[in-house]
Amino acid sequence: MSNNKRYQVAIVGGGPVGVALAIDLGLRGISCILIERRTEPQRIPKGQNLTQRSVEHFYSWGIAEELRAARVLPPDYPMNGIIAYESLVSDYWYAPPLREIVNAYYFQNNERLPQYLVEIVMRKRMAGLPNVESRFGWSAETIAQDEGGVRVTIATDGRRETVAADYVVGCDGSHSTVRQQIGIERVGANFDQPMVLAVFRSRELNEKLKRFPPRSTYRVMHPDQKGYWQFFGRVDIEESWFFHAPVPADTTRDNYDVHDLLQRAAGFTFACEFDYVGFWDLRIAIAEKYQVGRAFIAGDAAHSHPPYGAYGLNSGLDDVTNLGWKIAATLNGWGGAALLNSYTEERQPVFKDTADDFIEAYIRKDREFFERYSPVRDRAEFERAWNEHSDHAAPRVVTYEPHYEGSPVVFGPPGGVSSAHGSHTFKARAGHHLPPQRLSSGRNVFEELGPEFTLIAFDAEDATVADFQRAAEARGVPLKVIRDTYRDGRTAYEARLMLVRPDRYVAWLSDAAPAHADAVIARAIGAG
Ligand SMILES: Cc1cc2nc3c(=O)[nH]c(=O)nc-3n(C[C@H](O)[C@H](O)[C@H](O)COP(=O)(O)OP(=O)(O)OC[C@H]3O[C@@H](n4cnc5c(N)ncnc54)[C@H](O)[C@@H]3O)c2cc1C
Repeated sequence: MSNNKRYQVAIVGGGPVGVALAIDLGLRGISCILIERRTEPQRIPKGQNLTQRSVEHFYSWGIAEELRAARVLPPDYPMNGIIAYESLVSDYWYAPPLREIVNAYYFQNNERLPQYLVEIVMRKRMAGLPNVESRFGWSAETIAQDEGGVRVTIATDGRRETVAADYVVGCDGSHSTVRQQIGIERVGANFDQPMVLAVFRSRELNEKLKRFPPRSTYRVMHPDQKGYWQFFGRVDIEESWFFHAPVPADTTRDNYDVHDLLQRAAGFTFACEFDYVGFWDLRIAIAEKYQVGRAFIAGDAAHSHPPYGAYGLNSGLDDVTNLGWKIAATLNGWGGAALLNSYTEERQPVFKDTADDFIEAYIRKDREFFERYSPVRDRAEFERAWNEHSDHAAPRVVTYEPHYEGSPVVFGPPGGVSSAHGSHTFKARAGHHLPPQRLSSGRNVFEELGPEFTLIAFDAEDATVADFQRAAEARGVPLKVIRDTYRDGRTAYEARLMLVRPDRYVAWLSDAAPAHADAVIARAIGAG
């Protein structure tokens, strides 16, 4: 049966990334249909660690307060963790500062809550958007496309429909049907390592961890584990936990004692009750491209990997906020011919770096560390090296700064390359996330940014601003202008003029008026 209605975008997969895209597009006035085979979010407390940038997305969708209200941990409970050698009774442990050390460079602080609670907040927001239709309990089966659009066959309980849309986006997780249907290959390291994910309750574990300062996670690095983690994460501060760790090949729920594994990782016995035990394979798989014609992939469909460093959901949300405005701009007629291609060009290299240098390299470094150093073989040497190990946690956070300096739609530096490696600074840079800054009104610049492009103009000539407004209007580009003085801290931007994209990345900046404002706008929308 054919669904007679035609949508602008069909979204396959209503996990957190698919729902985020539906919100982002819905708020831009795009008609969407979201197809999700499950009726409820899976109650597995993964995806807990949300970056500052992710919370900025929630702010722009108008649900940052709802997100924070859904938090389970007490408001000031530390979100970072303990890293311990061998077990949780070890003398060797440290509590590194984690993501909060870069809070100042973002408009929102980082947050921690189970992914299913995040999804509930998002689903509620999506339900309030009249142009987004959701089909929970339906599965997408096939995708076909031609120059005029896409057709997605969907099914539930023996019923079948064909959905027609201008574009389709596969947010359907690591086994993505959309990715397979459009023939995108993946590259990456297969560690051939099965992992267990357990969700359990234990008050005794909570009591026995009181030797440590209060923390949200406890990562055990055992020399036998080849750099893989045995990881306890709190869901609340009383009794709820999740745990993941490597297990032998062919492990099943029936042939393996997961409780014994938990106790060995902890280094002490404790009683617990399991709510869930599941298995997955530790591998990194990155799609070689994120688009074929009118079909795109985002989130775990585009990149799946171990949860080390919490790059999964956060990267997926960055994918859809990069893609959402580009699809909307194209559908609304002001996106240029090169705009949609820039999604792969910007996001794929960022995730490739994330996987290679922030996930795989750290597994390798840890493996080498534990092969090389041992307190049994040489205690003094081990203690020196362990102190250095503790120094590595902060750089991983500080140097993780995804940027699009090599993008054809930003005015990056000559020879710029889009990458996950960067630095945090209050200076504005083309291709980078806009740092927050206080305006003379007392409001933050993020509270004033428009939903689409924004020109920030400090002490600018009226004629310069008018040139940009005329150029934007001629191309149908929605442009908000923020005018202010260039003082009181705003000099930290080191630029008087900045063109900020809808995803809060700087497309262009300068201290002086450009020769042609139209050339700036044209390139930023992929028409230059
Ligand atoms: C233990 C653990 C801890 C983690 N911790 C973090 C963390 O701290 N921070 C972080 O950023 N990430 C974390 N992650 C990763 C994060 O959970 C994932 O990256 C995230 O779920 C990806 O979201 P997604 O929407 O892309 O995919 P998914 O969550 O897999 O959602 C895909 C959806 O598509 C649906 N679907 C699939 N096929 C079809 C079809 N054919 N038709 C219709 N629907 C379909 C599925 O039912 C599913 O709901 C963690 C993961 C694990 C396992």
